[in-house]
Amino acid sequence: MDIAILGAGAMGSLFGGLLAEADHRVTLVDVDQAHLDSIRREGLQVTTDAGARAVTNLSVTRTEDMVEAPELLIVFTKTFHTQKALAAAPMLIGRNTFVLSLQNGLGNVERIAQYVPRECVMVGMTTWPADKSVPGQVASHGTGAIRLMSADGGAQDVVARTVEALNSADLNCTADPNIWSAIWEKVAFNAALNGLCAITKCTVGELANVDGQALAVRIVEEVAGVAQASGVAVDPGHIIETVEHALAHHREHRPSMLQDVLAGRKTEIEAINGEVVVRARELGIDVPCTQAVLHLVRLVENRSVVA
Ligand code: NAD
Repeated sequence: MDIAILGAGAMGSLFGGLLAEADHRVTLVDVDQAHLDSIRREGLQVTTDAGARAVTNLSVTRTEDMVEAPELLIVFTKTFHTQKALAAAPMLIGRNTFVLSLQNGLGNVERIAQYVPRECVMVGMTTWPADKSVPGQVASHGTGAIRLMSADGGAQDVVARTVEALNSADLNCTADPNIWSAIWEKVAFNAALNGLCAITKCTVGELANVDGQALAVRIVEEVAGVAQASGVAVDPGHIIETVEHALAHHREHRPSMLQDVLAGRKTEIEAINGEVVVRARELGIDVPCTQAVLHLVRLVENRSVVA
């Protein structure tokens, strides 16, 4: 498949590298010149449980230098960069281009649909982890999965081709007609743990006391209530089990939102707790703990964001 990745940071580089290794024609599109230059010089250095290697059969470009629209555009910017990235890239989207978002949070379809017909948008969620700390390098350990669907439930042939392409790179992808349940369940998990860690600077394990656990469970219940009132079936018991598993077994983990705060970067709180609060308000539902975490992360961000 002819694939471009808009936002070739941790996730975009991982997916781009693995798809190129599976012989798809991949272009990484980013604004991080040091990362692009390093890949041009030495290839993309990918480290997974399968080992470390350089992937050299992919192209890299800045958005404005893109000349040909791909069949599939995967958006992997942070949620707050989606619109700016797409606005700068009309050449990225042709008549036959489908756009896939596996970004965290809610509102991804709406943001992309400002630039692409909604019937050409696919949405999903992934549990693959990725880290990029040095230009030109990406690492991912452990396993993950992807679930996706077209935003309007159509284009089943494109969905099937996309799933096939991702599976050819061993990314463990399935088409999921109940994609919104998967997305909301991940949002509930992230709304509960990411914000609390970002505010308190605790690792996930350090939240595992009576106060931390009770707050996390309360937030899951609030988000699940908003999902259910929006017509999306989620299982709060299952999400709480996942949260408790993380508290017990991912003790040293620093969620990306905590890493962002520590590095003085903007967080994705608006796409996670922020979107839940907006939807709760529209439905007339109170979500006091989710909202408190939103306001506290905004305060932390105001103090710490460098640029
Ligand atoms: P990242 O910050 O590592 O990568 C984002 C990339 O977007 C950067 O390389 C940045 O330079 C680029 N970018 C910013 N503005 C741009 C623009 N205008 N045009 C083109 N590129 C631009 O972020 P990430 O960790 O890869 O996360 C990407 C998305 O995937 C987020 O929504 C995140 O929540 C989600 N996600 C991340 C993980 C993970 O483990 N990292 C797992 C699942 C989902």
